[in-house]
Amino acid sequence: EKTQTPVAREEKITVLVRLRPLNEKEIAAKEAADWECINDTTILYRNTLREGSNLPSAYSFDRVFRGECPTKKVYEDGTKEIALSVVKGINCCIFAYGQTSSGKTYTMTSITQFAVADIFDYIFQHEERAFAVKFSAIEIYNEAIRDLLSSDGTSLRLRDDPEKGTVVEKATEETLRDWNHLKDLLSVCEAQRKIGETSLNERSSRSHQIIRLTVESSAREFLGKENSTTLMASVNFIDLAGSERASQAMSAGARLKEGCHINRSLLTLGTVIRKLSKGRQGHINFRDSKLTRILQPCLGGNARTAIICTLSPARSHVELTRNTLLFACCAK
Ligand code: ADP
Ligand code: MG
Repeated sequence: EKTQTPVAREEKITVLVRLRPLNEKEIAAKEAADWECINDTTILYRNTLREGSNLPSAYSFDRVFRGECPTKKVYEDGTKEIALSVVKGINCCIFAYGQTSSGKTYTMTSITQFAVADIFDYIFQHEERAFAVKFSAIEIYNEAIRDLLSSDGTSLRLRDDPEKGTVVEKATEETLRDWNHLKDLLSVCEAQRKIGETSLNERSSRSHQIIRLTVESSAREFLGKENSTTLMASVNFIDLAGSERASQAMSAGARLKEGCHINRSLLTLGTVIRKLSKGRQGHINFRDSKLTRILQPCLGGNARTAIICTLSPARSHVELTRNTLLFACCAK
C-alpha cells in the first residue's frame, strides 16, 4: 500500500482580517472605534487627524470582516474551502493572529467546530471511501510542548521521522467518532489550557494552541488490495499567542515591559510566513522554533494556509492594531 500525494496548485497565503466590535468595557470607557471595513476587502483607519499623514489609512486583503459579521460567515467565506482540502489529502493550516483580547479564541473555537462538522458531512456523502479522523491537541508555552488531552504535565519531545517529518512524541491521538466526541475532547483541552494560568488570560496570551485533525482514507473497492492507495493529510487550527509578544520586540525603540518575554515561536513564524509569501526562494528557518518545526509539513509547498488577523477597533489599541496589519500585509 502506498500513500498518494496529491499535487495542489502552488498557493499564496489567504489573509483575512476580522474586526471585533467594541466590548462592554471599552464602551463604558467611552472608547472610540477608529477602524471601519468599507467593503469586503478594505479596512480603513478613520482617525487620520491624530496620526502622522505618512501612515496608510486603508489596507486591503483577500477578505475583511466587520464587527457584526458572524463567525459562520468568516468560516464559509474565508476558510471552509481550505479546511476541507484535508479530505483530498492536502495539508492545511488556519491561524488566528492578533493581540490578546482581539478575538482569536472566539474566532478559532467556532471555526474548528464548523470545519469538523463539514468534514463529517463530506465523509457521510462519500461512502465509496473508508475514512478515519484522528484528533490531537497540544500547547506550546515557553518553547515547551504540553499535551492538552493528558493531565500528566510533562513536556513532549519532537522527533524527526524519515517519513512523516517532525512528529510530537507521545502526543495523545484520539480517533474521532462523532460530534459529541469532538465536544468532549474540546472541553478537555479547554480545561487543560486553564490549568497553570497564573491570572486571567496570562498563560493563554503567551501560549500557542494547535488542534490537529488527521484524515486518512482509501477507496473501499481496493481495500486490502495491492493497488490500493491511501490519502492522508492534516488540518491544523492554531490559536497563537498574543501578537504583543512579537510586536514589542519588533517595534523600534519600544521598551520591553518587565516579565514580557519575546515569544520565539511567534517571531520565527513571522519570518517563515514572510519568506513563504515571497515565493519560497532560499532557506526557510522552520527549525528555529517548536511551532514552525511542528507545522513545517503543513506550510508551503503543497499545503494551504489561511491567516485570520483579529483586530480591536479601540483607539487605545491603535499601535498593536497597526502591527497586526503590518504582519497581515507581509503575509499576503
Ligand atoms: P483572544 O483570544 O484574542 O485573547 P478572545 O477570543 O478571548 O480574545 O476575545 C476577547 C473577548 O471579546 C471575549 O469576551 C470574546 O467573547 C469577545 N469577542 C471577540 N471577538 C468577538 C466578536 N467578533 N464578536 C463579539 N465578541 C467578540
Ligand atoms: Mg485567547
